[in-house]
Amino acid sequence: MTRPDISFEFFPPRNIEATFRLWDTVQALSPLGPRFVSVTYGAGGTTRELTRDVVATLHKNSGLKVAAHLTCVDATREETLAIARQFKDAGVNDIVALRGDPPKGASGFTPHPEGFNSSIELIEALREAGDFTIRVGAYPDKHPEAPTATSDVEYLKRKFDAGASEALTQFFFEAESFFRFRDECEKAGIDKPIVPGILPIENWKGARRFAEATGTKIPAWVIEAFEKAERDGRQDLLATAMCTELCNELLEGGVDKLHFYTLNRPELTRDVCYALGVTPDNKLENVA
Ligand code: FAD
Repeated sequence: MTRPDISFEFFPPRNIEATFRLWDTVQALSPLGPRFVSVTYGAGGTTRELTRDVVATLHKNSGLKVAAHLTCVDATREETLAIARQFKDAGVNDIVALRGDPPKGASGFTPHPEGFNSSIELIEALREAGDFTIRVGAYPDKHPEAPTATSDVEYLKRKFDAGASEALTQFFFEAESFFRFRDECEKAGIDKPIVPGILPIENWKGARRFAEATGTKIPAWVIEAFEKAERDGRQDLLATAMCTELCNELLEGGVDKLHFYTLNRPELTRDVCYALGVTPDNKLENVA
């Protein structure tokens, strides 16, 4: 099995302590040689300036290729494109273009009266603005707003046709979910890369809540295993083993890229990467 190409997702920190944690995470994971790292854009556009600053700082100081998430929520087209220009001015040409979720408490996506109505409109505008590598979201267990799995795949195809070059998926628990989705995409004529999004589960209760909110199917055996591990205080062990197993099944099934949701915690992601043979690029002269 070949060593997979990996990438990492971070979120912008909101206080000093979280800023140190992000930097520790970057330092711990960058020796693994990620293809890129991405920085999220808070639900409802709530971290607009923070995302911009973190993206620019990471680009300048980490030596890593950085991709900035950008959503359509609560902003005019002009404001959204101005942020994309700010990313470009900072030297960042990679964008994860999303429709976005509304802020907490709001129900459903309501476009700004002068804003983009959909991710597709945003992708088209970024393509016209030129020179961006555009990635998009994809949903192996189906997006909760998609009427059917087929329409979800068709919608992803439209995002590629509009100018996206790669999709990063929502997390999922079983390799089978991804393979089924990949096969459907292939049948629909999608020939661009679809990269599995991997969540090493640091916090089972949080992951379960998030999975339920995003329509991600949770197999009964996973619930049972985490409940038992929680009682025994062995959640990290289970999470690492389960995540490594999932990645191995994906790699055996022909996947060559993995995108890790780090939640700004490096330990589990690093352990899984090590278990997959993704280790720091040590040169022989550095070996004691
Ligand atoms: P879209 O793909 O545009 O729409 C979601 C689904 O709804 C489609 O797949 C389709 O099935 C259906 N749909 C929508 N419009 C139509 C239509 N007109 N006709 C038919 N079907 C339609 N959220 C944030 O706020 N900030 C982030 O930084 C962020 N990062 C993310 C990163 C990744 C890799 C992923 C997978 C998600 C991320 N999200 C983020 C969450 C994302 O914003 C939500 O899932 C949101 O509800 C959908 O965004 P999207 O761009 O994928 O939507």
